[in-house]
Amino acid sequence: MIIVLDAGHGGNDPGAVGNGMKEADLTLDICKRIQEKLIRKYLTDVRLAPRGELQERAQFANDCNADLFLSIHVNAGGGAGFESYIYPGAKERTRKLRDIIHNAIIALPIRDRGKKEKNLCVLRETSMSAVLLECLFIDNEKDAALLIDEVFRDKLANEITWGVALGLGLKNPCANCQQVNELMMEVDRLRSENAKYRQAISAIRNFMADLNY
Ligand SMILES: [Zn+2]
Repeated sequence: MIIVLDAGHGGNDPGAVGNGMKEADLTLDICKRIQEKLIRKYLTDVRLAPRGELQERAQFANDCNADLFLSIHVNAGGGAGFESYIYPGAKERTRKLRDIIHNAIIALPIRDRGKKEKNLCVLRETSMSAVLLECLFIDNEKDAALLIDEVFRDKLANEITWGVALGLGLKNPCANCQQVNELMMEVDRLRSENAKYRQAISAIRNFMADLNY
């Protein structure tokens, strides 16, 4: 199993800028955390795409024959919360993977802006399942307070890692040990319960936000 992580922007392109932060720095930080967790927990082959042109990033994943291309971005432009993208008309496998990753992330106390489709270069030019995540708004005060917090970024990386592992069916090699297996099943159960509650809370929060509460 090969996963390619694409840390949005970089090089001469800082991406979105706001509240003393650059999108390119945040995306790299989050990607490195995801990479470390996936390798440590699941012994997976996780590679970072080169931070060049969009076409090069997609080509890198195609050359790797990756099973998943996951692009991490941070949003800007007057909004709040998290949203995910797949290519319009993407295959069922991609839809399922996106749903699982998306649902894992909204277990965090953040606004859910929804599951979206867009004709984006990295989604279009990659030959495997490709998902792009827009993780909060750098120019929103509340979102920025989360993004600047290393503990939050690590939690975000945990949820993304969790979603990727669940979606791709990655197994922790320690899972043969019965005790570890039982503990992991309990964690699974708690996580899915937590996600359910979080989703309900998120729906209420969004409803209230629409009412300008
Ligand atoms: Zn971006």
